[in-house]
Amino acid sequence: MGALTIGIDIGGTSVRASVVDDRGTMLDTLRAATPPTAQALEHCLDRLTGELTSRWTAEAVGLAIAGFLTPDREIVRFAPHLPWREARVAAEMSARVGLPVFAEHDANSAAIAEYRFGAAARGHNTLVLAIGTGIGAGLLLDGEIYRGSYGVAPELGHLTVVPDGRPCSCGKRGCWERYCSGTALVDNVVELLADDDWGRSQLAADVAADPGSLTGRRVAGAAADGDAVAAAAMAGFAGSLGQGLAMIADIFDPDLIVLAGGVGAASGLFLDEAREHYARLVTGPGHRQLARIRGTQLGESAGVIGAAEIARQGLLRTSER
Ligand SMILES: [Zn+2]
Repeated sequence: MGALTIGIDIGGTSVRASVVDDRGTMLDTLRAATPPTAQALEHCLDRLTGELTSRWTAEAVGLAIAGFLTPDREIVRFAPHLPWREARVAAEMSARVGLPVFAEHDANSAAIAEYRFGAAARGHNTLVLAIGTGIGAGLLLDGEIYRGSYGVAPELGHLTVVPDGRPCSCGKRGCWERYCSGTALVDNVVELLADDDWGRSQLAADVAADPGSLTGRRVAGAAADGDAVAAAAMAGFAGSLGQGLAMIADIFDPDLIVLAGGVGAASGLFLDEAREHYARLVTGPGHRQLARIRGTQLGESAGVIGAAEIARQGLLRTSER
């Protein structure tokens, strides 16, 4: 067996750390709530790493971070849900824990994991879309992460799909993730309920009794049960997904699209409909090959497994120098 590495997926609500082997198997996993300050978050990362290295011999640590990193991944410039600003996260952690530490954008980590061990294997130009609260995107061109010129590509969730549409936390309006995410499913239901009387919908009755019970997961569950308002919300979502995929196909012409994230994992509910919209809206339909679209194989573990793989690749690069 090759070296073991530690992958840590740092999300806005939770931190997950795992010892992972060279086949992408998670051997030991720890979780913690994401602390609110940089100092407490760094202490949390050190503690999880220390606990894992007390039980396993790991040679490096990879961090999957939801934020903007410089192209060399040395500095976390900005992370909307994390306390780091212009922070030298990897080097500082390496000095504290005594192991090499490598950082990567979380969507890129997930894309690398799916490419090495999951649904993106054998893809050439592959887009991994993580659809959850918002949209995260990782793009692999011939197996290599595409970062753009300044390290922030591809920020697909904030493409404008509806001019003057729903307001977005990024400050713009009508962004794709406001129509194609778990949050969008909730907004779709709220708008549908305001427009019409959905007398026989269980979801409508539940929302009337307890508005706080309405979540993307609940809408997906109700759609699976055949609820009419949930199905209509899901149809809107599928239409927007297909619209976005057609735009992306016109720019990158991928051969494989993997849908990941909490909503992406429920792709059985919307994939056929989204594919129809995609096939119709792409430029020159019927005269070009379309990307295969499939669901994630690694699910919510993709970020952790990808981070560990980045640590492994980082070690290899260092040893080759
Ligand atoms: Zn936006």
